[in-house]
Amino acid sequence: MSNAVVARGTEEFTFRNYYRCPFDGTSWVAEWSCRCNDRCPLCRAEIEPHDSEDIDGEE
Ligand SMILES: [Zn+2]
Repeated sequence: MSNAVVARGTEEFTFRNYYRCPFDGTSWVAEWSCRCNDRCPLCRAEIEPHDSEDIDGEE
């Protein structure tokens, strides 16, 4: 019997995305399961990441 069922759902964060809002200069980091857009915590604009880091498979 395999007990190697690791919880790998869509909620797992495998990317660390870096955002910077062009409207108010806010920059923040958010971890997602993909390189997806996030909303500016200040003005709620939808921003796409200017940089992204793969944090899956940490050794
Ligand atoms: Zn903003």
